[in-house]
Amino acid sequence: MSKFRYRDRETADKVIKKLKEMNLEIRLMHVCGTHQDTLVRYGLDTLFRECGITIKQGPGCPVCVTTAREFEEAMRLARAGKTVATYGDVCRVPGRYGSLLDLKTEGFDVRIVYGIEDAIRIAEKSNKEVVFMAVGFETTAPSTAAIVLRSLPENFSVLSCHRYLPPALFALLEMGEFKIHGIIEPGHVSTIIGLEPYEKLSIQYHIPQVVTGFEPLDMLMGVFMLASQIKKGEAKVENEYTRVVRYEGNLKALKVIDTVFEAFNIDWRGFPEISNSGMRLKDEFGQVDSRKKYENELEGLDNEVFVEAEGCRCGDVLRGIIDSKECPLFGKTCSPTNPIGPCMVSVEGSCNIDYKYGSKRN
Ligand code: SF4
Repeated sequence: MSKFRYRDRETADKVIKKLKEMNLEIRLMHVCGTHQDTLVRYGLDTLFRECGITIKQGPGCPVCVTTAREFEEAMRLARAGKTVATYGDVCRVPGRYGSLLDLKTEGFDVRIVYGIEDAIRIAEKSNKEVVFMAVGFETTAPSTAAIVLRSLPENFSVLSCHRYLPPALFALLEMGEFKIHGIIEPGHVSTIIGLEPYEKLSIQYHIPQVVTGFEPLDMLMGVFMLASQIKKGEAKVENEYTRVVRYEGNLKALKVIDTVFEAFNIDWRGFPEISNSGMRLKDEFGQVDSRKKYENELEGLDNEVFVEAEGCRCGDVLRGIIDSKECPLFGKTCSPTNPIGPCMVSVEGSCNIDYKYGSKRN
């Protein structure tokens, strides 16, 4: 099936016309960098606004929600002589004392990798201790978990910064900083977790949710399905992305996550501590858990205060309080070549996406 079927202008016009006829004034949230990319790249956000529909990006960029403390853990380990391997955008996130990439420039051993397998290969060829900083939601956690179940080099460990997404949705609605009328749920994460974890949210907060794919027509249909529910006063979990997402999710991937990780309370950037939202390695995998293996090197972090870069409003962007362009630093002192916060670094970050497509849209 051609993806261009999902970019058909005529069908898009019909959906937009129907949305306009609904005469709504609503605010939706999505939690996915790929959704934000589709929204902004194709100008859908402008079209939706003309239909009375505002869409905000919530805490859906895994690099962006990783806290300054977690970056400091990785940097401490690098300064302590370990090899720290992680993704390129993770390396570029600036913290209080610079970024992992800055440490690399200073001569510390920081490696950019495409995934955990690359980090293992580095460990196999090295006498040094190698730490993989693992970032991501339920989409990437199964790969980390599957690797942890393998026989691994003794000099390899994982600094898990993985997170469960649904607890953040509960936290957002519980905080109630502003009214959200519906949630566009992410196709990637939902492929793994299925629809069931969202149902409690709909019941508890009477909020409609639609799991949505990433093509422009997917987003138009997802929003149309939400708008229809809102119009009828319904609060169901629906699936627009049926060609990929199953109700039960990916049972194998869920099993491997459950085997390796356990939930614990953790802060998210821009949020207070969110109950049971972090994934930490279970005790039986302590030998590959960087936090257990290097307890001494990481000692004292609990007493440190971690602050955002001055003026950076990533926290407000991640909670949907402001749009990226409302940050006073956007496009002035903060740009992809000189990022002040993670939302400008990560390709899934709202600031980065708005900057990338902003001039073309104008
Ligand atoms: S524009 Fe830059 S400084 Fe402002 S919120 Fe985004 S990343 Fe932070």
